[in-house]
Amino acid sequence: MAKDLSNKKNLLEVKNLKKYFDMGRGSDLKAVDDISFTIREGETLGLVGESGCGKSTTGRTLVRLYEATGGEVIFDGMNVHKLNKKEMVKYAREAQMIFQDPYASLNPRMTVSDIIGEGIDIHGLYKGKKRQKRIYELLETVGLNREHANRFPHEFSGGQRQRIGVARALAIEPKFIVCDEPISALDVSIQAQVVNLLEELQEELGLTYLFIAHDLSMVKHISDRIAVMYLGAMMEITTSQTLYDEPLHPYTQALLSAIPIPDPEIERNRERMILEGDVPSPIDPPPGCKFQNRCQYCKDICREKAPELREVKPEHWVACHLVK
Ligand code: SF4
Repeated sequence: MAKDLSNKKNLLEVKNLKKYFDMGRGSDLKAVDDISFTIREGETLGLVGESGCGKSTTGRTLVRLYEATGGEVIFDGMNVHKLNKKEMVKYAREAQMIFQDPYASLNPRMTVSDIIGEGIDIHGLYKGKKRQKRIYELLETVGLNREHANRFPHEFSGGQRQRIGVARALAIEPKFIVCDEPISALDVSIQAQVVNLLEELQEELGLTYLFIAHDLSMVKHISDRIAVMYLGAMMEITTSQTLYDEPLHPYTQALLSAIPIPDPEIERNRERMILEGDVPSPIDPPPGCKFQNRCQYCKDICREKAPELREVKPEHWVACHLVK
């Protein structure tokens, strides 16, 4: 259920963020193309879109795995892309990332203890017995136990490996975690366990999350608000409940229409909105609205002018010329 965050300040403010990749011969891949959003302290913002829409690049640029091409990321009052060395070390501690494939992101030659302890050592947080105690505590926090400390990643199931990834992120006591499709590679039966763990940790430790997923059904449960991306641009941002009850952007409506409804009667009778056509190349996106070639409501203005993300109702932002 959505939390009351009205009295919380913004932990993260993203303003006109751009991340382009140089493809040579003067062309750029515009992975993230001028997006703006905020995340409040203690909030979970779900970030959703089809693969290649720029959501993972957004997450990676926020934690500075990528340098931004333009725009600003303000974290707790600091401009993340203009930090000096000392501030950068502080930020690296406060903003962490959990990856989609827990196996690929864990070094197979390191024990769990070494994987979790690496960040503790880099930031000089604990030494000797205190370090070992902290590692045991972290294992227990994520639902593993101290006997797991000397084992290697291949000895664990996918869900357990994701728990190790969470413990590694928590080891340096971050405020903000980018969760990059953390449940997409897991069995459906395990997905809920990892989501529940992340929710419990948020409540206990006051964490703030950006939770990235390619499917709206995955973010519904955990997100306070949801942002929908398409071809590097932001299409709609609102509370989780409003997005499901009253989606205003044609792309969001199409994404929701693709989610099966468990009631066979409703599922049989409802009208589906099929997304036709392919996602255009981010190297050569269409002018105007980026969704124009797949939108059944497209008008002349959509081909000429890019719609701005506007607050059409309180807490409901939409980038579409036809939404008043
Ligand atoms: Fe469709 Fe036009 Fe709205 Fe884009 S701006 S989503 S093309 S109606």
